[in-house]
Amino acid sequence: MKAAVFKSGQTATGAFLHIEDVDRPEPTTGYVLLRVVACGVCRTDLHIVEGDLPPIKPLLIPGHQIVGEVAGGATLALPLGTRVGVSWIGGVDGSCWFCHHAMENLCDQPTFTGYTVDGGYAEYALVREDFVFPLPSGLDDAHVAPLLCAGIIGFRSLRVAGVEPGERVGLFGFGSSASLAIAILQSWKCEVYVSTRGEDHRKRAVSLGATWVGAEDEMPPVKLDRAVTFAPSGKVVVSALSSLRKGGVVAINAIHLDQMPAFDYDSLLWGERQIRSVANMTRDDARDFLKVAHALNIRPMVTVYPLADANQALLAVKNESGLGSAVIVP
Ligand SMILES: [Zn+2]
Ligand SMILES: [Zn+2]
Repeated sequence: MKAAVFKSGQTATGAFLHIEDVDRPEPTTGYVLLRVVACGVCRTDLHIVEGDLPPIKPLLIPGHQIVGEVAGGATLALPLGTRVGVSWIGGVDGSCWFCHHAMENLCDQPTFTGYTVDGGYAEYALVREDFVFPLPSGLDDAHVAPLLCAGIIGFRSLRVAGVEPGERVGLFGFGSSASLAIAILQSWKCEVYVSTRGEDHRKRAVSLGATWVGAEDEMPPVKLDRAVTFAPSGKVVVSALSSLRKGGVVAINAIHLDQMPAFDYDSLLWGERQIRSVANMTRDDARDFLKVAHALNIRPMVTVYPLADANQALLAVKNESGLGSAVIVP
């Protein structure tokens, strides 16, 4: 099968991945083989190929927003041809303290799709049968793909921030994940304040109904109850923190941050303000979000790339060019 392969230590900007013929995986007990019909591109993929996250496999097929059809290892619950989604959480051990305490996102022995195991930048992918999710009907393959990480993690971020209906919520950065989260916030009757760079992103936030939109260095005009940061920048976290009321929470939606700058405890964190990271997701987050996305008819904006252009798709994410999400269609 054709696949886009990352070889650790052998990449340069613009040539992160090599398109190659590799062996198609064989289904084994507990796994299903999917024929990949679309795979979304996530900023985490860029962190992997740029070395911000340490390499786990010397040869890796990235991609963790997989839409696929069961093509092997079918079961009663997953007959041949069933369309399912696969996300970043590709498996857990089910036995560690975190798994036993409903925190499988923090599992000690996790499997991450497209990082610790091969993912979906390929014609086929082998995935755990208990880590596939039913997908909302009404969205085609390319448009459903970005829901699988950008959407689920954005939703988890709102949970981690503890957003309550009607609250004032800041979104710092307005890429794929934030543009999906805003639909949920509106359904909760929240006021949404967006700080982001890029005139296109600001216009998009306005068109999606943000209460206030400003540049990345502009502060919202009111104190916020909650904030979620989407940029991989510690400076943005401090901006978000300084916009909070007492008792407010910042949730950091980023697997990697450049650096956390020093900040003044007395004026910024005192008053029971909190900073929380958002790590991975649980299967419940995935199922709950996909139901909400269906009910709200959330439809991401996408740009489709053939597998042969996987590097261009990653560059689009790196340069934040275009709106919405890049999606690879093999
Ligand atoms: Zn575990
Ligand atoms: Zn992701």
